[in-house]
Amino acid sequence: MERIQNFINGVFAEPTKGQYIDNYEPASGQVYCQIPNSTEEDIEAAVIAAEKAFPIWSAMSGEERGAIMMRISQGIEKRMDQFVAAESRDNGKPLSLAAHVDIPRAVSNFHFFATAIEHVSSESHYMEGVGVNYTTRKPIGVVGCISPWNLPLYLFSWKIAPALAAGNCVIAKPSEITPYTAYLLGEVIKESGMPAGVLNIVHGTGQSAGDAIVKHPKIKAISFTGGTKTGEYIARTAGPMFKKLSLELGGKNPNIIFADCDFDDMIKTTVRSSFANQGQICLCGSRIFVERSIYNKFKEAFVARVQQLTVSHPSDPNAKMGAVVSKPHMEKVLSYIALAKEEGGTVLCGGHQVNLPAPYDNGYYIAPTVIEGLAYDCRTNQEEIFGPVVTITPFDTEEEVLMMANSTQYGLSATIWTSDLKRAHRVADKVHSGIVWINSWLVRDLRTPFGGVKASGVGREGGWEAMRFFTEAKNVFISY
Ligand code: NAD
Repeated sequence: MERIQNFINGVFAEPTKGQYIDNYEPASGQVYCQIPNSTEEDIEAAVIAAEKAFPIWSAMSGEERGAIMMRISQGIEKRMDQFVAAESRDNGKPLSLAAHVDIPRAVSNFHFFATAIEHVSSESHYMEGVGVNYTTRKPIGVVGCISPWNLPLYLFSWKIAPALAAGNCVIAKPSEITPYTAYLLGEVIKESGMPAGVLNIVHGTGQSAGDAIVKHPKIKAISFTGGTKTGEYIARTAGPMFKKLSLELGGKNPNIIFADCDFDDMIKTTVRSSFANQGQICLCGSRIFVERSIYNKFKEAFVARVQQLTVSHPSDPNAKMGAVVSKPHMEKVLSYIALAKEEGGTVLCGGHQVNLPAPYDNGYYIAPTVIEGLAYDCRTNQEEIFGPVVTITPFDTEEEVLMMANSTQYGLSATIWTSDLKRAHRVADKVHSGIVWINSWLVRDLRTPFGGVKASGVGREGGWEAMRFFTEAKNVFISY
C-alpha cells in the first residue's frame, strides 16, 4: 500500500518513529494509503530546517519570492488532473467540484499572494513641526499553518501563500483526514526552485503533530482553521507563549430570505449554499429563515429541488453530492438528524444514509436533509452539524429574524435575500457575522477580509489582513 511522506528540508522523509496511520477513501470506506503519524521529533526537524532557511528566504526581494510562488501556482495548474483526482478521492467530493472550485482556488491563492507582495507599501505618520513616524513590516520567522479537511488544498494554500510571500518559513500540517494533495504539493515545491526548508509539510494527527507545532517555542505564529473546540485549545496553549494567533473556526450561518427577493435566483443559490460540498463548507447557510408570506411556496420549491440532487460516488459525472468525509463524521451528522426528530422537527426530505452498490457500498453517503418545525434555540439550530442538513423556519419581522439569526455562539457568515436596498444594508449592519452576502453566496474576492466574530474566530485572513498577520510592525520616529 502506498505510504505518503513528510516534506522536510526540501526532501521527502519517513516519520522519525516510523509510525503510519490509515487514510480512508470516503467513497468506498476502504483504506487506500497510509500517512506519517508524525511526532515532536519530526516537527523539531522541520523547525531546524526552517530556521536555517529563514535568513535566505527573508533576504530575497518580494519579487524574487513572488517569482518562485508563481512557479508553484503554475506547477499545480500543470498537474490539474492529478490534483483534482486526488482531492476528490481523499475527501469524497464530486470530481467536478474539485475541478471547478478546490484546485483552481489553490492555483489562485499562490498567484494572488505572489503578486500581492509586490504591491505592499508601508505607512508613515507625519507630526507637524515634531517629526515623522515610519512603520516597517518584517516577516515573523518560523510560523505554523494548520488546516482542516473540508477544502483541503484550498485552505492549506490560503494560509501558506501569504506566510511565504511575507518572507516567513513555514511548518504546515494538513488534516490527517485529507493529506494527499498537500503531499503532492511537495513535488511542485521541489520543482519550483524554492530553497530547502522554506516550506515544510508534516503529516499526522492534531494530538501529536498539531500539538507539537502549537507548543514549539520557536514557532512564533499559528494560523489555524478548524473546529471551535480545537481553536479554544490552541488559544489556551499558545496564548501564554505570546504567539500571534489567527483562528478561523466553526459556523452556523443564517440564510435570511425576505418575500420581496428574486425567488428563482434565491432558490437556485439556496440549494447550493445549503448542500455544496455535502454541506461541509464553513460558509454554508444551515439555518434558513423565510418570511412567513412565502414560507409555503419556498418549502415546496426548495424541497422539490433538493430531492433532485443526485447523491453518488465522486467520479460519477451526474453526482451533485458525493460522500461525507469520514465514518465518524457521517455518524455525527446522522446523530444530529435523530436529535432534530427528538426535538420535534419534521424531516421534509432526506434524513437517512444512502446505500450505493459495490464497490461503494461501505461509503459515507447521506441524503440532503431539510427539517422544519424546530425552535430557533434548540440544539439542532444552535450547534454546528457541518453536513448536508438544513432547517427552515418562518419569521414575521426584521427584528424577530435578526434575534434568531444572532442567537448562536457563532458569527462567521450570513446571506440576505431582498430587493429592498435599505433593508439589505440595515440587516447586513445588524447581523453578527464577519462576512455578509446580499442576493448571492460564496462570491469571493481574495482582497477582502475573511473571518468571523464570536466563537467563529479571531483575526482575519485575505488580502492585506493576511500580510499584516504574517509580519511584525516596527514604528520608527525621527525628530525634526
Ligand atoms: P479540527 O479542529 O478537528 O481539525 C483541524 C486541524 O487541526 C486538523 O489539521 C487537525 O489535525 C488539527 N488539530 C486537531 N487537534 C489539534 C490540536 N490539539 N492541536 C493542534 N492541531 C490540532 O477541524 P476539522 O474537523 O478538520 O474541520 C471542521 C471544522 O473546521 C468545522 O468546525 C468548520 O466550521 C471549520 N472550518 C472553518 C473555516 C473558517 O474559515 N472559519 C473553514 C473551514 C472549516
